[in-house]
Amino acid sequence: MNQEQRKKQIAILGSTGSIGTQALEVIAEHPDRFEARVLTANTRWQLLAEQARRFLPATVVIADEQHYDALAAALADLPIQVYTGSDALCQVVQSSEVDMVLTAMVGFAGLAPTIAAIRARKPIALANKETMVVAGELINRLCREYEVPILPVDSEHSAIFQSLIGEVSPIEKIILTASGGPFRTFSRQQLEDVTPAMALKHPNWDMGAKITIDSASMMNKGFEVIEAKWLFGVEPDRIQVVVHPQSVVHSAVQFADGAVKAQLGVPDMRVPIQLAFSFPERLQSSFDRLDWFTMHSLTFERPDTDRFHCLALAYEALQRGGNAPCIVNAANEIVNRAFLEGRCRFLQMADIIERTLDRATFIQTPTYEDYLQSDAEARRIAAEQILPLPSL
Ligand code: NDP
Ligand code: MG
Repeated sequence: MNQEQRKKQIAILGSTGSIGTQALEVIAEHPDRFEARVLTANTRWQLLAEQARRFLPATVVIADEQHYDALAAALADLPIQVYTGSDALCQVVQSSEVDMVLTAMVGFAGLAPTIAAIRARKPIALANKETMVVAGELINRLCREYEVPILPVDSEHSAIFQSLIGEVSPIEKIILTASGGPFRTFSRQQLEDVTPAMALKHPNWDMGAKITIDSASMMNKGFEVIEAKWLFGVEPDRIQVVVHPQSVVHSAVQFADGAVKAQLGVPDMRVPIQLAFSFPERLQSSFDRLDWFTMHSLTFERPDTDRFHCLALAYEALQRGGNAPCIVNAANEIVNRAFLEGRCRFLQMADIIERTLDRATFIQTPTYEDYLQSDAEARRIAAEQILPLPSL
């Protein structure tokens, strides 16, 4: 390691979330290499204040303006600039001091700050997959124009990225692994009655609520197919989802000669986060290692798109192209929240998304403004289909 190296200054958008807190653990493991320059949250101002006190960033942002006064008061004795509002997220990522932006916010809200960071030529450590789902084509165009790299944080895409290191030949096929979530073995009838509490118990990963529900419905895997298409330039018919309940093989790439390269490891998001920060180097870590002798079997299954229709809808959106993935994402954000709040049943989520996809205005070559409008329109159409339910 080069002792003279300047510490990489990292802006973490969404530092109070699952990815954000694990990113801070990575920074804490390597205080000689990384510094948290910017930390942001939406509402959890107390946790943001604790993080700021410990990591002493130059700037913090609380997106929800009603928590600004409390946060500013909590940090009044420290030399930390405190901002509020979603526009502030777009501004702070542009600071000349920021070397990399980790997009660990959840949902469509990640799109604008990611674009602002790309325009400011900041390398992106991409966790917020919704950005690629909604506007992958636009993001790729901007990354080319501003010569900005995207380092994937999503474990599957990090695995694919790692499998591609040193390769110059085209990809024959991507093997995108999926845990199958908590309902992998449930019948359709059992799926009728699953509750949010059941869906929130993911077998292998401890994640934020939104992505945990998306994993239970397999919409998360559908989104990852879309993310893989844009990150690696591979058409959807060459992206094979394979259910692998142990989550040890994080994904793989097959080449023209039939060789398959995969990346394996214990399920721990700190590994891909750290690699996104340090690439092309690999840094020492104290994280758990795979134990080959307690791992009794690795199994693989075909996904069932009848029971997990959201996965089929993501492929359908990719095939339609244009703003269709943006529509699916927006409808999904509405049904995901409604399911969590007990206002929509598990299997209804896919039905509502499908109807929204059929009803919302299709735009073949959307601009940024079109994405904003499509997102708003699809949210409205999806919300109209959610009726108040008697308690589940
Ligand atoms: P969490 O819900 O745990 O955290 C989300 C973070 O974003 C929090 O800091 C939250 O602030 C902030 N936030 C939420 N909404 C807004 C908003 N409107 N404006 C500004 N900030 C906002 O999510 P995860 O960490 O699980 O996921 C983050 C992203 O990473 C998602 O896109 C997810 O798909 C992706 N991802 C996550 C993985 C995981 O293991 N968790 C794995 C792979 C990808 P507050 O705390 O104040 O609410
Ligand atoms: Mg993933």
